[in-house]
Amino acid sequence: MTNISRRTFNGLLGAAGAVTMAGSLSACTSGPKVVVVGGGFGGATAAKYVKRYDPSFDVTLIDADKSHFTCPFSNAVIGGLKDMSYIERKFDALVNKHGVKVFNDMVVAVDPVAKVVKTKSGQTFAYDRLILSPGIDFKWNAIAGYDEAASQIMPHAWKAGPQTALLKKQLEAMPAGGLVVISAPGNPFRCPPGPYERASLIAGYLKKNKPKSKLLILDSKDAFAKDKLFKEGWEKLYDDIIEWVPAAKNGKVAKVDAKAGVVETDFEKFKPNVANIIPPQMAGTIAQTAGLTDKSGFCPVDPNTFESTIHKGIHVIGDACIAGEMPKSGYSASSQAKVAAAAAIALIKGEKPLQFSAINTCYSLLAADYGISVAAVFAVTDGKIAGVKGAGGVSPMGANYQFRKKEADYADGWYQSVCQDTWA
Ligand SMILES: Cc1cc2nc3c(=O)[nH]c(=O)nc-3n(C[C@H](O)[C@H](O)[C@H](O)COP(=O)(O)OP(=O)(O)OC[C@H]3O[C@@H](n4cnc5c(N)ncnc54)[C@H](O)[C@@H]3O)c2cc1C
Repeated sequence: MTNISRRTFNGLLGAAGAVTMAGSLSACTSGPKVVVVGGGFGGATAAKYVKRYDPSFDVTLIDADKSHFTCPFSNAVIGGLKDMSYIERKFDALVNKHGVKVFNDMVVAVDPVAKVVKTKSGQTFAYDRLILSPGIDFKWNAIAGYDEAASQIMPHAWKAGPQTALLKKQLEAMPAGGLVVISAPGNPFRCPPGPYERASLIAGYLKKNKPKSKLLILDSKDAFAKDKLFKEGWEKLYDDIIEWVPAAKNGKVAKVDAKAGVVETDFEKFKPNVANIIPPQMAGTIAQTAGLTDKSGFCPVDPNTFESTIHKGIHVIGDACIAGEMPKSGYSASSQAKVAAAAAIALIKGEKPLQFSAINTCYSLLAADYGISVAAVFAVTDGKIAGVKGAGGVSPMGANYQFRKKEADYADGWYQSVCQDTWA
């Protein structure tokens, strides 16, 4: 531990007001310091697993919010299948069961040389290793006119919480026979099947509550994750509701005028009752501020340890990092977190980190009783994370009702178990 870190830490212990969770003071340990930024799938798993792998480590988790609303199952909230409370995760168990110190503040700066992070309220936290899992932020105005103010009128709902509630409220308020437009971004973005799951569950809501309404997916791509399975499901369930317009047929949204309620491609103008604009994305702002991103807007990392290739001592995981063929999903983030946690401990102790291997399973719901899935195993090949050939698989086409219903039940089971593994 450096002098700076000891001074800072003692100062923080004196500042009881800075401690979010009362239990965090008693959880104090004097081992090496790991600071984790972000309490979502990546960050919460990393904090918990550093403590599980070696309880002598002193682990601090900093999140800007008091609790985390998960994006997984937020589409089910929007579609009226679940309540907001279903997707809210609190940090209490990390503190009380696992001995993680949790602080509620926004990290605004990282000094990779002094190894200190600074928060909005002026606190500083010294670290031996930093694990960053800030998720994504948006490239405002990449779609002309779509900035943060416009997102209050045409929600993205691509971070769960108030945006989820806003989109749901707008759907409830729209008339029967209305039009919903979803603008889907180009790759790479958070949760590749997410826009299509959302379209399905909104269509389910419209079918039940707003008869004769239509849903148009304006896409910046010509293909998408699990597209054959989605299209098969739409034909069965929502043939008269969902229309998908690929980039090749001018689906890409170029411009919006949120106040006028207009969404434009290069050739057409739409005036939907509800517009859900999912803009292009980049690593969370703090990763940009800390100089951890490359020109793609995401963070290059060593594929075995998730240590930044730009700043040593900082591991970047989850949606913010460039993880080869691994999709940007909650399950990927949580798998990467375990790898980064073990690597951070090994590197602090001067040991050799293990070889990377991880899995991702992704369920999508088309209705409460209709699920589809894809699973894959990943390893490092030629210095890059790639899918292991022959491992994993996709739901079959043409499956019967019982099969799809079972997959929907597994989706719920998957959610419960990944949340348990992350926050409980
Ligand atoms: C609609 C939708 C559905 C999805 N469904 C699935 C699914 O079914 N399965 C699946 O595996 N994935 C799903 N995903 C993807 C999944 O949500 C993300 O991949 C996952 O959340 C990434 O985890 P993360 O840790 O990188 O970021 P997040 O989980 O977003 O966590 C980031 C955290 O960092 C905090 N933070 C950010 N910046 C700072 C800062 N400067 N200071 C302090 N705190 C900060 C935020 O408050 C947040 O709590 C879905 C996504 C969407 C949008």
